[in-house]
Amino acid sequence: MTPLDVVVALAVAVVALAILAAWRAGHTMVAAPMTQLAASLDAPRSSRPRIVILGGGFGGVYAAKALEQAQRRRDDFEVVLISRENYFVFQPMLPEVISGTIGLFDTVSPLRQMLSRTEVHVREIARIDLERRVVQTSPGFHPHAHEIPYDHLILALGNVTDFRGMRGLPEHAWPFKTLADAVALRNHVIRTLEEAAIERNEPVLVEQLLTFVVAGGGFSGVEIVAELNDFVRAVARRYRGIDQSRIRVVLLHGQARILPELAPSLGEFAARKLAARGVELRLRARLEAATAEGAVLVGGDRIATRTLVSTVPSSPHPLLEALALPKAKNGRIPVDRFLQVEGHPALWALGDCAFALTAHGEPVPPTAQHATRQAAVVAHNVLARLRGTPAKAFDFGGLGKMGSLGHRSAVAEILGIKLSGFLAWFMWRTIYLSKVPGWGRRLKIAVAWTLDLFLPPELVQLRLGEQAGIGKEHFEPGDIVFRQGDLGDRLYIVLEGEAEAVQETAGESRVLGKIVAGQFFGEKALLQASGRSATIRCVKAMDALSLPKREFGLLTTHLRGLRRSFEEVVTERDRQTPSKTE
Ligand SMILES: Cc1cc2nc3c(=O)[nH]c(=O)nc-3n(C[C@H](O)[C@H](O)[C@H](O)COP(=O)(O)OP(=O)(O)OC[C@H]3O[C@@H](n4cnc5c(N)ncnc54)[C@H](O)[C@@H]3O)c2cc1C
Repeated sequence: MTPLDVVVALAVAVVALAILAAWRAGHTMVAAPMTQLAASLDAPRSSRPRIVILGGGFGGVYAAKALEQAQRRRDDFEVVLISRENYFVFQPMLPEVISGTIGLFDTVSPLRQMLSRTEVHVREIARIDLERRVVQTSPGFHPHAHEIPYDHLILALGNVTDFRGMRGLPEHAWPFKTLADAVALRNHVIRTLEEAAIERNEPVLVEQLLTFVVAGGGFSGVEIVAELNDFVRAVARRYRGIDQSRIRVVLLHGQARILPELAPSLGEFAARKLAARGVELRLRARLEAATAEGAVLVGGDRIATRTLVSTVPSSPHPLLEALALPKAKNGRIPVDRFLQVEGHPALWALGDCAFALTAHGEPVPPTAQHATRQAAVVAHNVLARLRGTPAKAFDFGGLGKMGSLGHRSAVAEILGIKLSGFLAWFMWRTIYLSKVPGWGRRLKIAVAWTLDLFLPPELVQLRLGEQAGIGKEHFEPGDIVFRQGDLGDRLYIVLEGEAEAVQETAGESRVLGKIVAGQFFGEKALLQASGRSATIRCVKAMDALSLPKREFGLLTTHLRGLRRSFEEVVTERDRQTPSKTE
């Protein structure tokens, strides 16, 4: 323990907790006459009008909190909030879940604890009907649809990580947006280390296992790569079977400089810091495709990896895409300065799903600090509409931008002042700690941060809800789906593309046949519990459904006819040798 550790520990645990009032509402609300908003409110359906909020993130929860505060003064409306999780996620701290610097539940707060007066529905929202003014949620235990009528609807659904249209990314890239994403990634990373320690005699596999790639050099990509790098390098020392010099952590970024949102000097500082800690920066490098064994870059370069995290692209929410509303260029819902959807007096939008302009005519960036300020404005304006009082325009320009680089270093630009290194890191921690909802949680995080300075990183791998059932896999030309002699672990059904079966006999290899869309392979080793009798190599970019051994076994045990059909195929393929494909 160095003297610096002691200083940092005391500073973070004591001082940070004392500065909880630091980051208070910085928005200025501009009074506007009610006539600037559409004039009339539809007749309420019940004695008290109902405000329905969609989404339990920064926008939705803080709007509900603001409405609850107003309700304490005058209880003349009801609030319903619908969200798929029963908790609120403090996303800025999610990257720390990877390394276990803070506890799994420290980044989340139960909605029912944050919102005491709001009726919370923990459901998947299935449909929004603007004509009938109802929101439909997907079934719970009882398979029937649930409809929630509203008088005012607030859209706060955020955006989604959407890999559609990018070859292999939906199947093989890790998104990073929710607590589940963070926990799944952490578990996967630990698994790759466990495997690398065992598979010492498989150099190609070890290279893939010990290479970690993050795509996207914006704030979240940089924070994720910094945490991942620190974590992997710190814990790898505990694996006797891992050669630490073989670990690679790569950050891919399409532009010439990472953190383009910040001043160039800060982006360059971040790049130097990351490089000094062993992160390989690949600038002007764009991801084109992904497979189970690698990342393919535009231009054809490949990076062999079993871990590809992509923080890009974020797309508009599919529920909102389906609405017959005008969309901004990026698919977000345009709103006026009062955050009302134009032409829809009972419809409001905020946060990452809304397209709003600042008072200076610039697009409001998709950040938590803007979403929380918009939440207060939306709450005010909905009530203004209901009560016939003046509305307020959203006019918040942002207080600053910060990004953690791990290892007691960060970059920050606050009110025009540029900071980097330890001071920026200290501010990052202090400010974000003050923003976490609830004293109890803040205390837990402060304690976790303090202990983290003295204790080694947590290395427990939680094998919860591992992927089961049918999945989809993508292969690029030249990829090996499985090798002759491998154990049979799944059945493949080709959706698109082409593969060939190749058999090695006495040192000679011969192509047994092609496998094209609509055909399947891999059944023989599963039925006979034997090794693979041929190698399957992708010839044309291929998408395939893959059914794990367990599910295949369940189906063929209970559906005798299905088993017989597969057995007949095996017999036929064996008979047709040399064109057999297992
Ligand atoms: C890793 C990471 C780090 C970040 N760091 C920072 C930072 O340091 N500073 C900063 O200011 N911003 C940061 N951000 C951005 C910030 O978190 C977002 O701008 C903010 O969360 C936007 O709030 P929102 O309410 O619009 O959306 P979200 O917070 O994403 O909330 C959307 C809500 O809608 C719910 N939902 C969506 N679809 C459905 C459905 N069909 N049914 C039911 N519920 C649904 C979701 O479950 C969620 O509760 C970060 C984001 C990420 C991912």
